[in-house]
Parts: sequence; C-alpha cells; structure tokens
Amino acid sequence: MTAHIKPETIAATYGVASDAAFGAISPPLVLSSTFAFEGYERAGRYDYGRAGNPNRDMLGEALAALEGGAGAVVTSSGMAAIDLVLGQLGSADRVIAPHDCYGGTLRLLKARAAKRQFQLSIVDLSDTSALDGALAASPALVLIETPSNPLMRIVDIADITARAKVAGAVTMVDNTFLSPALQQPITLGADYVVHSTTKFLNGHSDVIGGAVVAARAEDAERLRTWSNVIGSAGSPFDAWLTLRGLRTLYARIERQQATAAVIAAFLKQQPQVTAVHYPGLADHPGHALALRQQRGFGAMLSFELAGGVEPVRNFCQNVHVLTLAESLGGMESLVAHPATMTHADMGAEGRQITGISDQLLRLSIGLEHVDDLVADIAQALGGQ
Ligand code: PLP
Repeated sequence: MTAHIKPETIAATYGVASDAAFGAISPPLVLSSTFAFEGYERAGRYDYGRAGNPNRDMLGEALAALEGGAGAVVTSSGMAAIDLVLGQLGSADRVIAPHDCYGGTLRLLKARAAKRQFQLSIVDLSDTSALDGALAASPALVLIETPSNPLMRIVDIADITARAKVAGAVTMVDNTFLSPALQQPITLGADYVVHSTTKFLNGHSDVIGGAVVAARAEDAERLRTWSNVIGSAGSPFDAWLTLRGLRTLYARIERQQATAAVIAAFLKQQPQVTAVHYPGLADHPGHALALRQQRGFGAMLSFELAGGVEPVRNFCQNVHVLTLAESLGGMESLVAHPATMTHADMGAEGRQITGISDQLLRLSIGLEHVDDLVADIAQALGGQ
C-alpha cells in the first residue's frame, strides 16, 4: 500500500482482488491448519496455522496500515491482545495502569500481578503529579485507555507517552473506543496500540477478537513469535469476518458518532439525567483535548440518572430499540449498566474510587435512525 492512499480506501479494499489462484475479489478464506512444504527443509510462506495464516496476516496488515504501525498481531480476543504484550514483562518490571480502564483489563492486570509476573501501580493518569510519582519508580510499561470505559475521560496521549519515554517506559494505548478512524495513538508517540476488534473494527457483534499493532517492526516480530509460543491466535474465519467488517468502519463510525452527538444533547436536556459523559459536549472536561487528539468524538457515551436504582432498572427494562447487553461498537445500539455488568468485578469500593456510580448507564450508539433512538430513550426515561 502506498502512503498517499487514504485510510478509507485501505479499509475498503485491503486484499481485494489479490487472489492469485482464481482472481477472487473477496479474499478467500483459508481454513487449513497446515501448509505443504516446498521441499525438504523448505517451508513455504506458511507452515502451521498457529504460527501464521493468510487471513490473519491480511487483517493485521490492514490494521497496521490504518494505525500507522509497522506490524500487527491478530489475537483471539482483546484480552489476549493485552496479555500478549504483558507476556513480554518479567517479575522485576512494573506496569502503570489507569484506575478507570475497562474492568476486564484491571482484572487481568491484578491477577497477573498477584502471581508476581510483574508489579502494578494503578494511577489516575489525568493527575500529572500522581503519574510523575509512579514514573519515578522506573516502570517498564504504561497502559493508556482514552476515552476511558465507561466514563469517557480523556487523557493526553502525546504528553503521557513523552513522560513515559523519559522514564524509560514503553506505552500501550487501548484504542478500542475510537478505532484508527478517529484516533491514531502511534502518531502521538505510543509504542503499541491494542484493540478489542470485537467492537468497532468488526462492527457486527459476531466475532470475539483482538489485535496488537506495534510502532516498530522488531516489536511486531517479537509479539508474533510469542503469539505462536503461547497459541493466542484468532481463527481464520474470525479474521476474515473482521476484515469484512473493517471495510465499512469509516462510514459506520461517522454515522454512529453523528447520532451519538444528537443523543448526548437530548439527554443533557432531560430533568431525570444528572450527568452526561460525552467528549463532544462543550462542557465535558476533556472536550478541548479530544478536539486536539481525536478526529471525532465517537459513538460511546454514558449518563447518570437521578433517584436510586429504580429509574435505572426501569430504563434498562423499558428500552425496545436499544438492547440491554454488554459490548459495544456494533451496528445495533446497546445500553449497559456498568455497576452490575462490565465493571461488576471491580467491586463497590473500586467503582466508588473510580467514579462509576450505580446510577451510570453506558450507551453504544449504532446505525438505527436517530429519531427512533431518541424516541426509545425518551419513553424509557418516562418509564411507560
Ligand atoms: N478493551 C476495552 C476498552 C474493552 O471495552 C474490552 C471489552 O469490552 C476489551 C479491551 C476486551 O476485549 P475482548 O472482550 O475482545 O476480550
């Protein structure tokens, strides 16, 4: 792919008409677990499916091109992608992680740290002096998640990566909430970008998958080797589906974020809503930073309802166009209650420290007509 080709074109066409055997336009699905050697001691490009597969490679190449990285490794889930990078650390290494990242990421980090596979500092990354204090301990890796899940807090990727570099640490940014269509952390100094491809990249809620994109080719190669060692690769069919989903990423996310902005503005005006967390709102604390480091505000938002558990339960039970479910980034709009769903494992104390109240609801906005979504939210707030 040449550098001047626009990302929309890369996403829509990567691997199209590249099939040498039949001239297939849609890249063929290669399910074979093993590949014929060309001769004694002469493996072809592929030898065994755990080590490499054409569909995984095609997806990885497309993601690396979109993120501005040197290479990518496609994994069986977003958690496997994060764990692939964590697997590079030793017991003397320290990881700095944000206090408000995805609950599953915190669970993984705490579980690995409890087994002494590395040391862990959990820090509010928006607090510069707390970050500098943690960086003074010479960490090996700083994990960044922005916007954060589910509070949509924004942190400054360029600033944190620069500080981390001075301290001798590499940085890994979870770009799941925005995708490379709206944010490219490697161009802001990150060493790794991780994705739950389950979300916007695939976009159709029918694959669990992940990817790590590395800024440097040697890091991508090391992770590829490690992925073969531990067997964390995603299936060829999942990679094929994800590349198919990626074709429409730019069109989908543009429409989805336009709808999200309307819904955020609508929620803001409702008397039952005490707070709306959407970086596109002018009074969001991260608005100016989001304007600077993102190309859009995304299709995720969260909001808080007044009046105890009852209104929250009513909202979840009364939506019809939206569906009560975990996950995000699909064509269908979803509502999640972080305290009892995605962030339940954090425990009440952890959620309180992080600011995730029992009143908080998270929305992933899909491709339905905006009028239908607004009407659905309005009636669910009314509780009829
Ligand atoms: N990172 C973020 C920001 C997520 O929201 C999730 C899942 O919700 C993950 C990582 C984990 O991805 P997966 O569910 O594909 O393992």
